Amino acid sequence: MSTQALPRPPAFSLKDFLSSFMLVELFKGLAITGKYAFSRKITIQFPEEKTPLSPRFRGLHALRRYENGEERCIACKLCEAVCPALAITIESDQRADGTRRTTRYDIDLTKCIFCGFCEESCPVDSIVETQTLEYHGEKRGDLYFTKEMLLAVGDRYEPQIAAAKAADAKYR
Ligand code: SF4
Ligand code: SF4
Repeated sequence: MSTQALPRPPAFSLKDFLSSFMLVELFKGLAITGKYAFSRKITIQFPEEKTPLSPRFRGLHALRRYENGEERCIACKLCEAVCPALAITIESDQRADGTRRTTRYDIDLTKCIFCGFCEESCPVDSIVETQTLEYHGEKRGDLYFTKEMLLAVGDRYEPQIAAAKAADAKYR
């Protein structure tokens, strides 16, 4: 025969009994509901409404140019080396004028973890992450961005990129 003791029932509590009888917890819950029903709303109707973004927001990547149209990237490959996701692939060659430029600059955004290391490592502010967050791909390969695509993003958003860099400059 087993000698294991049976669990003892919880002791009677008059306070708990009255609290349960008078629906105290229910009214507490209704009070919280009532408080938030009439307070200022903190949700927004996205995508019609948007919250402000930090100048350091890390969205879609872009390659930038100087004002004269020359691409900034000097093919140092620091961004490729620092990328923890191995998302960047660079090939380079020397031009006729002796400068080195990329012949291939690809980012596989399906690998990217948007850590921002590439942007931080770039000595010439070439590779950046823009404030663009509304983009998508519908089939495999759509999010594989080539140099031409990245330069096109940079050309399109340069005013926004320059403004974000200027806003962040005083904190660096
Ligand atoms: S944001 Fe990070 S993971 Fe993405 S390409 Fe740059 S270094 Fe690589
Ligand atoms: S984007 Fe910047 S860090 Fe990357 S290869 Fe070009 S110059 Fe170097």
